[in-house]
Amino acid sequence: MTARKIGLVGLGKIARDQHLPALAANPDLELVAVASPGAALDGVDGFESLSAMLAARPELDAITLCTPPGVRHALASEALAAGKPVMLEKPPGATLSEVELLARQAESAGLTLFASWHSRHAPGVAPAREWLADREIHRVQIVWKEDVRVWHPGQEWIFEPAGMGVFDPGINALSIVTAILPRPFFLRDALLQVPANRQAPIAAQLRFTDTAGAPVEADLDFLQTGPQTWDIHVETDAGRLTLTKGGSELTIAGESVPVGPAGEYPALYARFAELLDSGASDVDPAPLRHVADACLLGRREAVAAFHFP
Ligand code: NAP
Repeated sequence: MTARKIGLVGLGKIARDQHLPALAANPDLELVAVASPGAALDGVDGFESLSAMLAARPELDAITLCTPPGVRHALASEALAAGKPVMLEKPPGATLSEVELLARQAESAGLTLFASWHSRHAPGVAPAREWLADREIHRVQIVWKEDVRVWHPGQEWIFEPAGMGVFDPGINALSIVTAILPRPFFLRDALLQVPANRQAPIAAQLRFTDTAGAPVEADLDFLQTGPQTWDIHVETDAGRLTLTKGGSELTIAGESVPVGPAGEYPALYARFAELLDSGASDVDPAPLRHVADACLLGRREAVAAFHFP
């Protein structure tokens, strides 16, 4: 079978760091066009906009959207309306409603929509889910602390409402926890720390409870210097499970558990190729729902103004 022709929209940090190498390594997919207002890629047709790309390259088989979330709904809707299956970077949109509308649009057009959650493909996640399936959960602690200046240099959009601030990385933790815990959980309380000159939080403390009453707590920070922390600890009746480094290392009851090699984005594109073959969609808004709940319920506290260096 010939490789499916992919058009990529939004040639920014994550597209260059992860999507381009993952697409290059996937024999079922071929990147043939890029649409991004301020960027071009050697050897690949470049366009100023998705509209221009769709008009010039009607043979595209699918579109992958790597833009910030604020513009994603309009772009995804345009691509679906043009008859193209779509893969969305995380988070799948700026609101739950727009994600639901996209899912409906894709379904009624009979097209694949893939709302990707890259952290769910970290190698420790599947074995953690398996081990936790039969366990009694006593307590869950998420500690997700990274430096916005390192991972999102100069990205002003991230502190706009649709950028979600510290929830941009924090939603990765929520994507893992919603995938590995045997019971659902819901928000009880949240404190969002918002810089005086910004609209989205730079830190947040969240308190959830699962349906059996076990606490699930999250401490999110966007100003971590030195070593970065992307850890999830789950206390159970059979000891403590810990996922570190964003889900790429797993420890159970003090023993390190061997997991596969890292490869989140190759796994995402393998999944997208599978969905394109079957014509199915994969849209799970659960992590975004928790962020929306935090914005609904959370107390907002003003903290020091933040400027990118
Ligand atoms: P970024 O570096 O700011 O890149 C976003 C790109 O989208 C820019 O090249 C921008 O072009 C382009 N763009 C914006 N509006 C567009 C439009 N209407 N049509 C076409 N292109 C458009 O941001 P990023 O870090 O790559 O993040 C993008 C998404 O990836 C976010 O949802 C983020 O959560 C996710 N993600 C990021 C990381 C990370 O480490 N950075 C990791 C995992 C996932 P201009 O610059 O010319 O405006």
